[in-house]
Amino acid sequence: MKSRLRFAPSPTGYVHIGGLRTALYNYLYAKQTDGTYLIRIEDTDQTRLVEGAIEGMIEEMLWSGVTHDEGPFIDAVSGQITEIGDFGPYIQSNRLDLYKKHALELIEKEHAYYCFCTKERIETVREAQKNAGLTPKYDGHCKHLSSHEIEEKLQRGEDHVIRLKLPENRIITFDDLIKGSISVNTNDLDDQVLMKTDGFPTYHLAVVVDDHFMNISHVVRGDEWLISTPKHVYTYEAFGWEAPQYVHLPVILSHTKKKLSKREGDVAVKDFRRRGYLPEALINYIALVGWSPEDGQEIMTMDELIEKFSFERVSKSSGVFDLDKLNWMNNQYIRNCDLDRLTHLCKPYFVESGFVEPDQFEAKFDWLKRIVEILRERLDKLEDIGSYKSFFSMKEVVLEDDEAKEIIEMAHVSTLLQTLIGKIEASADLNAESLKLILKEIQKETGHKGKNLFMPVRVGITGQVHGPDIAIVVEILGKALTVERLKYCLDNLC
Ligand code: GLU
Repeated sequence: MKSRLRFAPSPTGYVHIGGLRTALYNYLYAKQTDGTYLIRIEDTDQTRLVEGAIEGMIEEMLWSGVTHDEGPFIDAVSGQITEIGDFGPYIQSNRLDLYKKHALELIEKEHAYYCFCTKERIETVREAQKNAGLTPKYDGHCKHLSSHEIEEKLQRGEDHVIRLKLPENRIITFDDLIKGSISVNTNDLDDQVLMKTDGFPTYHLAVVVDDHFMNISHVVRGDEWLISTPKHVYTYEAFGWEAPQYVHLPVILSHTKKKLSKREGDVAVKDFRRRGYLPEALINYIALVGWSPEDGQEIMTMDELIEKFSFERVSKSSGVFDLDKLNWMNNQYIRNCDLDRLTHLCKPYFVESGFVEPDQFEAKFDWLKRIVEILRERLDKLEDIGSYKSFFSMKEVVLEDDEAKEIIEMAHVSTLLQTLIGKIEASADLNAESLKLILKEIQKETGHKGKNLFMPVRVGITGQVHGPDIAIVVEILGKALTVERLKYCLDNLC
């Protein structure tokens, strides 16, 4: 059988960075084995629905490059959700009849039962169990209702759920590719609700029915689901179906070794995207949180990830999300990115920071491209480019720190800048080459060289002691602005 793997997010409104890694590992294995990777939307919890969430999440996944073969997509023309694949619908709320049918089938086979207990009763039972020091679980009150009683209650339209009927004292065993063999006694499990009062299935029924009918070969998901898996395995058995191979991934922790949380920083893929992380960098980085290839290679394309990935090398302990490492990796990708593409990707930050009006972007593209070219090695993420706005547009030089002040106040600087202004004004054009020639001339004529020459020039033009190649900066600034800054400096700061 060909491998078929799925990413099954609930539409909470954004793809969590941990979800992205889960999706990626599913995708990598599917592609490596020439199989299929699909997305299924698990929206059975109607209380958690968020408007537009499905569309947003599909969009984020496609942006990331973890592209699905089957599942919901966004139609380019209508903007509506459409589905591709022979195993749909891929959104659980469109599969309600199937769950209902299968819940009833389990009742018929006596592997499930109606439960008419009220919320209040269940709460009281739980409280009593807790007070007695027991793990709270359903007490089986409705497990042995007679068919007559059930019929009557149904006739009366009493609210009810359908529960899985677990056998007593049975060991359920399954094998997980990362966790190994796991055995649990049914006495330690609850009779899981499969159908809720609102007629919607719980996740636990829907996931089994869907993974079965979508022919899923490997269920790869976060290990917060491990505790539910024995119930799923039993549900497969109750239906007479074969369970898939399970792979539970250790969680991703923050640098403080806590669960990643929205409060601690960015956990939403869309936030990383907004701040200018390249999708290939984010993917490369997230692949390495809890997995590494045998050869220790760090920078990998998607094709290389597909080739090298294996569940066997996924770590058994939690991975730590290290923002510094992600920034380093993003910077590596920024350095090597095609310059035209990079400049286009920088557009929102140029516009946001006022570098350029949105409708002027194309007209100023070549100029912006030069800025990207000299700054790219300094950017951890593309949004950082916005902080260079004044560097390229200020008319009045602002001295960055005391060191810059000391340099500009050296005794020889005022004559030096005067000479420089004169030569720039006299030159036909100002570019990197002509500035270099001018500086050589000044060196010859005045005897100032090295730091005594270059530092005052840099500070006089940028206000900063360090920064990108000054010859290229000057070329980007142009003659008029360079002279204006030097004159300001001369009149006000020297
Ligand atoms: N809907 C579940 C989630 O959002 C997916 C669990 C699974 O993959 O089985 O985490």
